[in-house]
Amino acid sequence: MIPDLRIGPALVVPVTAPPLRGYVEVTAGAISHVGAAPTAGRAVETVEARDRIVIPALVNTHCHTSQQLGRGLGDDVGLLTWLHDRIWPYELALEESDAELSALVCAIEQIRNGCTLLADPGGRHVDGMARGIAAAGIRALLGRSAMDSGDGRPDGDRETTAEVLDAQDELADRWHGVGLLRFSYTLRTIFNCTDELVTATMERARALGTVAQMHVAEVPEENSHAVATRGATTVRHLDRLGALGPDLLAVHATWVDDEEIALLAERGCPVSHNAASNLKILGSPRVADMLDAGVLVGLGTDGAPSNNRMSMIDEMWLAAIVQKGLRRDPTVLPADAVFRMATADGAAALGMADVVGAIEVGRRADLVVLDPFTPNFATAADPVAALVTALKSENVESVLCDGEWVLRDRCITRVDEAAVLAEAAGRAAAVRRRAGLLT
Ligand SMILES: [Zn+2]
Repeated sequence: MIPDLRIGPALVVPVTAPPLRGYVEVTAGAISHVGAAPTAGRAVETVEARDRIVIPALVNTHCHTSQQLGRGLGDDVGLLTWLHDRIWPYELALEESDAELSALVCAIEQIRNGCTLLADPGGRHVDGMARGIAAAGIRALLGRSAMDSGDGRPDGDRETTAEVLDAQDELADRWHGVGLLRFSYTLRTIFNCTDELVTATMERARALGTVAQMHVAEVPEENSHAVATRGATTVRHLDRLGALGPDLLAVHATWVDDEEIALLAERGCPVSHNAASNLKILGSPRVADMLDAGVLVGLGTDGAPSNNRMSMIDEMWLAAIVQKGLRRDPTVLPADAVFRMATADGAAALGMADVVGAIEVGRRADLVVLDPFTPNFATAADPVAALVTALKSENVESVLCDGEWVLRDRCITRVDEAAVLAEAAGRAAAVRRRAGLLT
Protein backbone atom coordinates (compact mmCIF):
# COMPACT_ATOMS: atom_id res chain seq x y z
CA MET A 1 0.00 0.00 0.00
CA ILE A 2 1.35 3.43 -0.95
CA PRO A 3 1.73 5.67 2.13
CA ASP A 4 -0.37 8.82 2.12
CA LEU A 5 2.47 10.85 3.55
CA ARG A 6 6.23 10.55 3.99
CA ILE A 7 8.13 13.04 6.16
CA GLY A 8 11.91 13.01 6.08
CA PRO A 9 14.78 12.76 6.27
CA ALA A 10 14.45 14.48 9.66
CA LEU A 11 15.51 14.11 13.27
CA VAL A 12 12.67 11.91 14.55
CA VAL A 13 11.98 11.79 18.31
CA PRO A 14 9.66 8.83 18.89
CA VAL A 15 9.71 9.19 22.74
CA THR A 16 9.24 5.44 23.31
CA ALA A 17 12.42 4.65 21.32
CA PRO A 18 15.74 6.48 20.84
CA PRO A 19 15.84 9.48 18.47
CA LEU A 20 16.92 8.69 14.90
CA ARG A 21 17.64 10.40 11.59
CA GLY A 22 15.07 9.07 9.21
CA TYR A 23 11.51 8.93 7.98
CA VAL A 24 7.98 8.74 9.30
CA GLU A 25 5.23 7.46 7.02
CA VAL A 26 1.50 7.73 7.45
CA THR A 27 -1.17 5.51 5.95
CA ALA A 28 -4.91 5.93 6.54
CA GLY A 29 -4.33 8.29 9.47
CA ALA A 30 -1.94 5.96 11.30
CA ILE A 31 1.84 5.80 11.52
CA SER A 32 2.81 2.99 9.13
CA HIS A 33 6.61 3.21 9.13
CA VAL A 34 9.42 4.74 11.21
CA GLY A 35 12.99 4.09 10.09
CA ALA A 36 16.36 5.33 8.92
CA ALA A 37 15.29 4.66 5.32
CA PRO A 38 11.87 5.13 3.71
CA THR A 39 9.84 2.19 2.43
CA ALA A 40 10.29 1.33 -1.24
CA GLY A 41 8.36 3.32 -3.81
CA ARG A 42 6.74 6.72 -3.70
CA ALA A 43 4.26 8.24 -1.30
CA VAL A 44 1.16 10.23 -2.22
CA GLU A 45 2.60 13.30 -0.47
CA THR A 46 6.21 13.86 0.51
CA VAL A 47 7.46 16.47 2.94
CA GLU A 48 11.17 17.11 2.52
CA ALA A 49 12.20 17.67 6.10
CA ARG A 50 15.97 17.74 6.06
CA ASP A 51 17.09 19.73 9.13
CA ARG A 52 13.61 19.56 10.61
CA ILE A 53 12.63 17.76 13.85
CA VAL A 54 9.56 15.52 13.98
CA ILE A 55 7.97 14.87 17.37
CA PRO A 56 4.68 13.37 18.54
CA ALA A 57 2.03 16.04 19.10
CA LEU A 58 1.85 17.19 22.71
CA VAL A 59 -0.98 16.15 25.05
CA ASN A 60 -2.65 18.71 27.31
CA THR A 61 -4.16 16.87 30.28
CA HIS A 62 -6.03 19.87 31.70
CA CYS A 63 -7.51 22.52 29.47
CA HIS A 64 -10.70 24.53 30.14
CA THR A 65 -11.66 25.27 26.53
CA SER A 66 -14.71 27.33 27.45
CA GLN A 67 -12.61 29.74 29.54
CA GLN A 68 -10.61 30.99 26.55
CA LEU A 69 -12.75 34.15 26.27
CA GLY A 70 -11.99 34.82 29.96
CA ARG A 71 -8.25 35.40 29.61
CA GLY A 72 -7.15 38.03 32.11
CA LEU A 73 -10.23 37.71 34.33
CA GLY A 74 -8.40 35.93 37.12
CA ASP A 75 -5.25 37.96 37.61
CA ASP A 76 -3.92 38.82 41.06
CA VAL A 77 -6.83 37.47 43.13
CA GLY A 78 -7.10 34.53 45.58
CA LEU A 79 -8.75 31.23 44.68
CA LEU A 80 -12.17 31.88 46.20
CA THR A 81 -12.46 35.36 44.63
CA TRP A 82 -11.17 33.83 41.40
CA LEU A 83 -13.84 31.14 41.48
CA HIS A 84 -16.88 32.84 43.04
CA ASP A 85 -16.53 36.40 41.73
CA ARG A 86 -14.83 35.85 38.39
CA ILE A 87 -15.16 32.35 36.93
CA TRP A 88 -18.71 31.46 37.95
CA PRO A 89 -20.18 34.80 36.73
CA TYR A 90 -18.16 34.41 33.50
CA GLU A 91 -19.39 30.86 33.00
CA LEU A 92 -23.00 31.84 33.69
CA ALA A 93 -22.79 34.69 31.15
CA LEU A 94 -21.43 32.32 28.50
CA GLU A 95 -23.90 31.16 25.87
CA GLU A 96 -23.52 28.08 23.76
CA SER A 97 -22.22 29.98 20.72
CA ASP A 98 -19.66 31.70 22.99
CA ALA A 99 -18.48 28.31 24.26
CA GLU A 100 -18.12 27.12 20.67
CA LEU A 101 -16.00 30.12 19.69
CA SER A 102 -14.02 29.87 22.94
CA ALA A 103 -13.21 26.21 22.26
CA LEU A 104 -12.24 26.97 18.67
CA VAL A 105 -9.82 29.74 19.70
CA CYS A 106 -8.43 27.48 22.43
CA ALA A 107 -7.91 24.67 19.91
CA ILE A 108 -6.08 27.04 17.55
CA GLU A 109 -3.75 28.07 20.38
CA GLN A 110 -3.15 24.40 21.21
CA ILE A 111 -2.29 23.60 17.58
CA ARG A 112 0.13 26.53 17.34
CA ASN A 113 1.85 25.10 20.41
CA GLY A 114 2.09 21.60 18.95
CA CYS A 115 -0.80 20.01 20.85
CA THR A 116 -3.55 17.89 19.28
CA LEU A 117 -5.18 16.21 22.29
CA LEU A 118 -6.66 17.98 25.30
CA ALA A 119 -8.72 16.93 28.30
CA ASP A 120 -11.40 19.44 29.18
CA PRO A 121 -12.62 18.98 32.76
CA GLY A 122 -15.99 20.43 31.97
CA GLY A 123 -17.93 23.48 30.92
CA ARG A 124 -21.65 24.19 30.80
CA HIS A 125 -22.12 24.00 27.01
CA VAL A 126 -20.59 20.73 25.89
CA ASP A 127 -22.35 20.81 22.50
CA GLY A 128 -20.71 24.15 21.71
CA MET A 129 -17.32 23.00 23.00
CA ALA A 130 -17.53 19.86 20.86
CA ARG A 131 -18.34 21.81 17.71
CA GLY A 132 -15.52 24.29 18.35
CA ILE A 133 -12.91 21.57 18.85
CA ALA A 134 -14.15 19.58 15.85
CA ALA A 135 -13.94 22.69 13.64
CA ALA A 136 -10.22 22.99 14.41
CA GLY A 137 -9.68 19.28 13.68
CA ILE A 138 -8.08 18.09 16.92
CA ARG A 139 -8.89 15.52 19.63
CA ALA A 140 -10.51 16.14 22.98
CA LEU A 141 -11.84 14.40 26.00
CA LEU A 142 -14.85 16.57 26.80
CA GLY A 143 -16.81 16.84 30.02
CA ARG A 144 -19.64 18.78 31.57
CA SER A 145 -19.03 20.74 34.74
CA ALA A 146 -20.51 18.51 37.46
CA MET A 147 -21.58 19.94 40.83
CA ASP A 148 -24.44 18.79 43.04
CA SER A 149 -23.70 20.57 46.32
CA GLY A 150 -21.77 23.31 48.07
CA ASP A 151 -21.98 26.96 49.02
CA GLY A 152 -21.36 29.99 46.88
CA ARG A 153 -22.71 28.59 43.64
CA PRO A 154 -24.89 30.94 41.63
CA ASP A 155 -28.62 30.09 41.62
CA GLY A 156 -28.60 29.39 37.89
CA ASP A 157 -26.08 26.64 38.46
CA ARG A 158 -27.86 24.40 40.99
CA GLU A 159 -28.65 20.81 40.04
CA THR A 160 -29.48 17.62 41.92
CA THR A 161 -27.25 14.55 41.76
CA ALA A 162 -29.70 12.83 39.38
CA GLU A 163 -29.87 15.89 37.11
CA VAL A 164 -26.07 16.11 36.94
CA LEU A 165 -25.77 12.42 36.03
CA ASP A 166 -28.64 12.41 33.52
CA ALA A 167 -27.22 15.43 31.69
CA GLN A 168 -23.84 13.71 31.44
CA ASP A 169 -25.34 10.42 30.25
CA GLU A 170 -27.13 12.26 27.48
CA LEU A 171 -23.92 14.03 26.40
CA ALA A 172 -21.98 10.76 26.50
CA ASP A 173 -24.55 9.27 24.10
CA ARG A 174 -24.27 12.27 21.82
CA TRP A 175 -20.51 12.83 21.65
CA HIS A 176 -18.51 9.81 22.77
CA GLY A 177 -16.68 8.42 19.75
CA VAL A 178 -17.92 11.09 17.34
CA GLY A 179 -14.98 12.00 15.11
CA LEU A 180 -11.95 12.59 17.33
CA LEU A 181 -14.03 13.39 20.42
CA ARG A 182 -14.50 11.32 23.54
CA PHE A 183 -16.73 12.04 26.51
CA SER A 184 -15.41 12.13 30.04
CA TYR A 185 -17.45 12.17 33.24
CA THR A 186 -16.22 14.90 35.55
CA LEU A 187 -16.30 16.01 39.16
CA ARG A 188 -15.55 19.69 39.83
CA THR A 189 -14.12 19.49 43.38
CA ILE A 190 -14.96 17.78 46.63
CA PHE A 191 -16.44 21.11 47.83
CA ASN A 192 -19.18 20.75 45.21
CA CYS A 193 -19.66 17.01 44.81
CA THR A 194 -21.45 14.59 47.15
CA ASP A 195 -20.10 11.10 47.80
CA GLU A 196 -23.07 9.74 45.88
CA LEU A 197 -22.05 11.76 42.83
CA VAL A 198 -18.40 10.64 43.13
CA THR A 199 -19.37 6.97 43.29
CA ALA A 200 -21.96 7.14 40.49
CA THR A 201 -19.56 9.15 38.28
CA MET A 202 -16.80 6.56 38.62
CA GLU A 203 -19.24 3.73 37.78
CA ARG A 204 -20.30 5.53 34.62
CA ALA A 205 -16.76 6.47 33.54
CA ARG A 206 -15.67 2.84 33.98
CA ALA A 207 -18.68 1.57 32.04
CA LEU A 208 -17.96 4.00 29.19
CA GLY A 209 -14.24 3.13 29.20
CA THR A 210 -12.94 6.68 29.63
CA VAL A 211 -11.17 8.45 32.47
CA ALA A 212 -13.10 10.69 34.83
CA GLN A 213 -11.56 14.07 35.70
CA MET A 214 -11.61 15.77 39.09
CA HIS A 215 -9.83 18.76 40.64
CA VAL A 216 -8.11 17.20 43.66
CA ALA A 217 -6.34 18.73 46.68
CA GLU A 218 -6.02 22.15 45.09
CA VAL A 219 -5.64 24.22 48.28
CA PRO A 220 -5.04 23.40 51.97
CA GLU A 221 -8.60 24.57 52.74
CA GLU A 222 -9.91 21.76 50.54
CA ASN A 223 -8.23 19.15 52.71
CA SER A 224 -9.53 20.83 55.90
CA HIS A 225 -13.03 20.87 54.39
CA ALA A 226 -12.78 17.19 53.47
CA VAL A 227 -11.56 16.29 56.96
CA ALA A 228 -14.39 18.32 58.56
CA THR A 229 -17.18 16.94 56.35
CA ARG A 230 -15.87 13.46 55.40
CA GLY A 231 -13.32 12.67 58.10
CA ALA A 232 -10.31 12.41 55.78
CA THR A 233 -8.32 14.49 53.27
CA THR A 234 -9.51 14.48 49.66
CA VAL A 235 -7.14 11.81 48.34
CA ARG A 236 -7.71 9.50 51.32
CA HIS A 237 -11.46 9.97 51.14
CA LEU A 238 -11.58 9.31 47.38
CA ASP A 239 -9.67 6.10 48.05
CA ARG A 240 -12.20 5.03 50.68
CA LEU A 241 -14.91 5.59 48.07
CA GLY A 242 -13.03 3.33 45.63
CA ALA A 243 -12.54 6.25 43.24
CA LEU A 244 -8.74 6.26 42.97
CA GLY A 245 -7.50 4.28 39.99
CA PRO A 246 -6.16 4.51 36.43
CA ASP A 247 -9.58 5.81 35.35
CA LEU A 248 -9.56 8.91 37.56
CA LEU A 249 -7.39 11.82 36.46
CA ALA A 250 -6.48 13.72 39.63
CA VAL A 251 -6.03 17.31 38.50
CA HIS A 252 -3.50 19.52 40.34
CA ALA A 253 -2.91 17.32 43.45
CA THR A 254 -1.09 20.33 44.83
CA TRP A 255 -1.42 19.60 48.55
CA VAL A 256 -0.68 15.93 49.13
CA ASP A 257 1.52 14.29 51.77
CA ASP A 258 3.86 11.30 51.45
CA GLU A 259 1.14 8.80 52.27
CA GLU A 260 -1.19 10.31 49.66
CA ILE A 261 1.56 10.26 47.01
CA ALA A 262 2.11 6.57 47.82
CA LEU A 263 -1.66 5.97 47.52
CA LEU A 264 -1.80 7.64 44.09
CA ALA A 265 1.13 5.47 42.94
CA GLU A 266 -0.28 2.27 44.40
CA ARG A 267 -3.71 2.78 42.82
CA GLY A 268 -2.22 3.79 39.45
CA CYS A 269 -4.12 7.08 39.65
CA PRO A 270 -2.67 9.60 37.16
CA VAL A 271 -2.07 13.25 38.02
CA SER A 272 -2.35 16.30 35.77
CA HIS A 273 0.37 18.76 36.77
CA ASN A 274 -0.39 22.31 35.73
CA ALA A 275 2.75 24.20 36.65
CA ALA A 276 1.73 27.75 35.70
CA SER A 277 -1.78 27.76 37.15
CA ASN A 278 -0.56 26.00 40.28
CA LEU A 279 2.08 28.67 40.82
CA LYS A 280 -0.36 31.48 40.04
CA ILE A 281 -3.14 30.39 42.37
CA LEU A 282 -2.62 27.16 44.28
CA GLY A 283 1.00 26.45 45.23
CA SER A 284 3.51 24.07 43.70
CA PRO A 285 3.03 20.33 44.00
CA ARG A 286 5.78 17.83 44.72
CA VAL A 287 6.01 16.46 41.21
CA ALA A 288 9.60 15.23 41.59
CA ASP A 289 8.49 13.25 44.65
CA MET A 290 5.50 11.90 42.72
CA LEU A 291 7.74 10.70 39.90
CA ASP A 292 10.12 9.10 42.42
CA ALA A 293 7.12 7.27 43.93
CA GLY A 294 6.00 6.03 40.49
CA VAL A 295 2.95 8.25 39.96
CA LEU A 296 1.99 8.73 36.30
CA VAL A 297 2.07 12.50 35.67
CA GLY A 298 0.87 14.43 32.61
CA LEU A 299 1.09 18.19 32.02
CA GLY A 300 -1.71 20.68 31.46
CA THR A 301 -2.21 24.36 30.82
CA ASP A 302 -5.46 24.72 32.80
CA GLY A 303 -7.65 27.60 31.52
CA ALA A 304 -6.87 31.06 30.18
CA PRO A 305 -7.95 32.88 33.38
CA SER A 306 -5.72 30.68 35.55
CA ASN A 307 -2.64 30.63 33.36
CA ASN A 308 -2.95 33.19 30.55
CA ARG A 309 -0.38 31.22 28.52
CA MET A 310 -2.15 28.22 27.04
CA SER A 311 1.03 26.65 25.76
CA MET A 312 2.21 23.12 26.45
CA ILE A 313 5.66 24.26 25.31
CA ASP A 314 5.79 26.82 28.11
CA GLU A 315 4.42 24.23 30.55
CA MET A 316 7.25 21.80 29.81
CA TRP A 317 9.92 24.39 30.51
CA LEU A 318 8.19 25.69 33.62
CA ALA A 319 7.45 22.23 35.06
CA ALA A 320 11.14 21.34 34.85
CA ILE A 321 12.54 24.57 36.21
CA VAL A 322 10.09 24.84 39.14
CA GLN A 323 10.78 21.35 40.44
CA LYS A 324 14.53 21.92 40.21
CA GLY A 325 14.10 25.01 42.35
CA LEU A 326 11.64 23.43 44.74
CA ARG A 327 13.90 20.47 45.46
CA ARG A 328 17.06 22.59 45.13
CA ASP A 329 18.30 19.83 42.90
CA PRO A 330 19.02 20.57 39.22
CA THR A 331 19.04 16.84 38.42
CA VAL A 332 15.31 16.31 38.98
CA LEU A 333 12.89 16.34 36.03
CA PRO A 334 15.50 16.01 33.25
CA ALA A 335 14.35 17.04 29.78
CA ASP A 336 13.59 13.53 28.54
CA ALA A 337 11.31 12.85 31.53
CA VAL A 338 9.46 16.14 31.04
CA PHE A 339 9.06 15.55 27.30
CA ARG A 340 7.62 12.14 28.09
CA MET A 341 5.15 13.73 30.52
CA ALA A 342 3.95 16.06 27.75
CA THR A 343 3.56 13.19 25.24
CA ALA A 344 3.43 9.45 26.01
CA ASP A 345 2.65 9.81 29.72
CA GLY A 346 -0.03 12.43 29.08
CA ALA A 347 -1.69 10.11 26.58
CA ALA A 348 -1.53 7.25 29.10
CA ALA A 349 -3.00 9.48 31.80
CA LEU A 350 -6.00 10.04 29.51
CA GLY A 351 -6.39 6.32 28.81
CA MET A 352 -5.03 6.74 25.26
CA ALA A 353 -1.59 5.13 25.57
CA ASP A 354 -2.03 3.09 22.41
CA VAL A 355 -3.59 5.90 20.41
CA VAL A 356 -1.22 8.90 20.42
CA GLY A 357 1.73 10.33 22.39
CA ALA A 358 4.59 8.55 20.57
CA ILE A 359 5.88 7.94 17.05
CA GLU A 360 5.26 4.22 16.82
CA VAL A 361 3.80 2.10 14.04
CA GLY A 362 0.10 1.62 14.74
CA ARG A 363 -0.46 4.81 16.72
CA ARG A 364 -2.54 7.53 15.09
CA ALA A 365 -0.55 10.10 13.15
CA ASP A 366 -0.51 13.11 15.47
CA LEU A 367 2.82 14.70 14.61
CA VAL A 368 4.58 18.05 14.80
CA VAL A 369 7.24 19.25 12.35
CA LEU A 370 9.56 21.71 14.08
CA ASP A 371 11.76 24.32 12.42
CA PRO A 372 14.88 24.62 14.61
CA PHE A 373 16.27 27.67 12.77
CA THR A 374 15.19 30.33 15.24
CA PRO A 375 17.44 32.35 17.57
CA ASN A 376 16.14 30.44 20.61
CA PHE A 377 16.92 26.99 19.19
CA ALA A 378 19.46 26.97 16.32
CA THR A 379 22.58 26.74 18.49
CA ALA A 380 21.31 24.10 20.94
CA ALA A 381 23.97 21.49 21.80
CA ASP A 382 21.35 18.76 22.19
CA PRO A 383 18.22 19.38 20.11
CA VAL A 384 16.29 16.66 21.97
CA ALA A 385 16.91 18.26 25.38
CA ALA A 386 16.15 21.64 23.80
CA LEU A 387 12.58 20.43 23.11
CA VAL A 388 12.02 21.18 26.80
CA THR A 389 14.67 23.77 27.61
CA ALA A 390 14.53 26.06 24.57
CA LEU A 391 11.52 25.31 22.36
CA LYS A 392 9.00 28.07 21.66
CA SER A 393 5.80 28.18 19.67
CA GLU A 394 7.58 29.85 16.75
CA ASN A 395 9.42 26.56 16.13
CA VAL A 396 6.10 24.82 15.37
CA GLU A 397 5.93 24.73 11.57
CA SER A 398 3.31 22.10 10.74
CA VAL A 399 0.98 19.87 12.77
CA LEU A 400 -0.75 16.68 11.74
CA CYS A 401 -3.75 15.25 13.63
CA ASP A 402 -5.07 11.80 12.74
CA GLY A 403 -3.15 12.05 9.48
CA GLU A 404 -4.63 15.45 8.48
CA TRP A 405 -2.78 18.77 8.46
CA VAL A 406 -4.28 21.16 10.98
CA LEU A 407 -1.30 23.55 10.67
CA ARG A 408 0.67 23.67 7.43
CA ASP A 409 3.69 25.94 7.02
CA ARG A 410 2.45 27.99 9.99
CA CYS A 411 -1.09 28.41 8.61
CA ILE A 412 -4.16 27.04 10.37
CA THR A 413 -5.85 24.91 7.71
CA ARG A 414 -9.44 24.40 8.82
CA VAL A 415 -10.69 27.90 9.57
CA ASP A 416 -9.92 31.52 8.75
CA GLU A 417 -7.82 32.20 11.83
CA ALA A 418 -7.76 36.00 11.54
CA ALA A 419 -11.55 36.18 11.23
CA VAL A 420 -12.03 33.81 14.19
CA LEU A 421 -9.72 35.86 16.41
CA ALA A 422 -11.36 39.15 15.48
CA GLU A 423 -14.78 37.74 16.31
CA ALA A 424 -13.49 36.24 19.56
CA ALA A 425 -12.10 39.57 20.79
CA GLY A 426 -15.52 41.19 20.40
CA ARG A 427 -17.30 38.23 21.92
CA ALA A 428 -15.00 38.16 24.96
CA ALA A 429 -15.81 41.84 25.62
CA ALA A 430 -19.55 41.11 25.29
CA VAL A 431 -19.33 38.24 27.79
CA ARG A 432 -17.42 40.47 30.25
CA ARG A 433 -20.14 43.12 29.92
CA ARG A 434 -22.95 40.61 30.54
CA ALA A 435 -21.10 39.18 33.54
CA GLY A 436 -20.36 42.65 34.92
CA LEU A 437 -16.63 41.91 35.00
CA LEU A 438 -13.74 44.35 34.46
CA THR A 439 -15.81 46.68 32.29
ZN1 LIG B 1 -9.29 23.15 36.18
